[in-house]
Amino acid sequence: MVNPDSYSSHSNLGSNVEQYHVSSGWSEIDEWGPEKVLQVYDPDTGMKGVLVIDNTSTGPGKGGIRFAESVTPTEVFKLARTMTWKCASAGLPFGGAKGGIIANPSKVNQVEWIKSFAKMIRPYCPSQYIAATDVGTTELDMAVFAHEIGDMRACTGKPQELGGIPHELGTTGYGVSVALRTTIDFLKDIKRKGLKASKPLIDLTNSLDTKSNNIKVVIQGFGNVGSFAAKFLNDLNIKVVGVSDVSGFVFDDNGLDIPQLMSDMKDKSKLSDLPENQQQQHLYNILDKDEIFNVNTDIFIPAALTGVINDKTAPKLLEHNVKIIVEGANIPTTASADQYLVNNNILIIPDFLANSGGVIGSFVEYQGRTEKEAFDLIEYKITNNVKRALYNSLQLIDQEGDTSQLDVRRTAMETAKQIVYRAMLLRKGAISVAREAYARKERVIY
Ligand code: NAD
Repeated sequence: MVNPDSYSSHSNLGSNVEQYHVSSGWSEIDEWGPEKVLQVYDPDTGMKGVLVIDNTSTGPGKGGIRFAESVTPTEVFKLARTMTWKCASAGLPFGGAKGGIIANPSKVNQVEWIKSFAKMIRPYCPSQYIAATDVGTTELDMAVFAHEIGDMRACTGKPQELGGIPHELGTTGYGVSVALRTTIDFLKDIKRKGLKASKPLIDLTNSLDTKSNNIKVVIQGFGNVGSFAAKFLNDLNIKVVGVSDVSGFVFDDNGLDIPQLMSDMKDKSKLSDLPENQQQQHLYNILDKDEIFNVNTDIFIPAALTGVINDKTAPKLLEHNVKIIVEGANIPTTASADQYLVNNNILIIPDFLANSGGVIGSFVEYQGRTEKEAFDLIEYKITNNVKRALYNSLQLIDQEGDTSQLDVRRTAMETAKQIVYRAMLLRKGAISVAREAYARKERVIY
């Protein structure tokens, strides 16, 4: 296993970093990036935005455009970094990047602002940055963006009329369901094959009834990711007992009727918009959105905001028997909550593995291939990547002793760093060093 702390010592990639760090005042920079941080302002429209191109060693930086009042350069950077690890983990020829437009999209002229943002970042698009949808942007924005750049390769998630595979087809939610199914299969394998595992993992396996229809799942967020995760889990006969959104929380311990809920939610933007009679007809009981942390469940899927699993909410998850967290949202867990949960034997499938369905679908779109191929590739890649990360983590706990927990984020991150590190060496022309790194493959657990 390569010690991630040793990268800077043998890579010598960070030689110019200190200089930039000191002169720019940008405190987030490290040996991986960001390569470019662009703050843009268009006085004609008032549009303010940010583009962070984190690392392009594995290909042009890929990442959505977030359109929200709360967008900050630091947030855009963190999301860009997540894209670096996500694209590397998925083995895609993309690097990491992210765009941000700072306003509530419903309070400005959205089309004008998207055009304005496109105009400002045109020199980098698509050679170093390929956009996509994110919170606050849709396939229609991507159509406007691509036309303004003047190149259909400028973004993915475009409408089907423009050769797109929109995220609105549920590619990310599908990937989340594949990640959970793979995790359950792994736990079944530990039992069935009698794999050597630490005591905490055996306890976890024993405490989860791995018959899919006995497992309970709650999902925070019923937008693009959350609603499709619910749909595809329901297709797998896995019981979704609760979903929440910004307006409330719907819960039924016996399992929600997800197809019915999705149909009732058509043309509505939030759960509290469900009309009174439908609430009675289908027995929706709409609770406060934060009640999601106060119900017993086996699996918790955050699919809304950043930082929702934190020092306050993590103990509640533990108290309510959560055993597995599959991160549908980007960066939903704070670092201290992550450590606390891992120490308490909660299995976390990190965002850059679990929610990579969208970017894998984007890659298929970028290649001009079909929707069916996108779903097939998502299933193939997420199954393999999650399985690899789980088995690598298992191998690690064997080495570390009988009481250690499964830290999938740590193992998967090391693999992603290996991939990016070698790509950076190759770009630099340090081919012999890169070859040597490949030759030392026994130090990399794939
Ligand atoms: P979305 O805007 O479609 O849905 C967000 C949902 O979260 C909505 O249902 C909203 O009501 C809910 N929500 C907002 N505040 C909430 C709160 N305080 N409590 C509970 N629910 C709340 O967004 P999305 O596209 O589904 O993205 C969700 C997350 O997944 C984001 O972190 C995004 O970055 C990440 N993600 C999305 C994709 C994608 O393809 N859409 C891909 C990868 C990661």
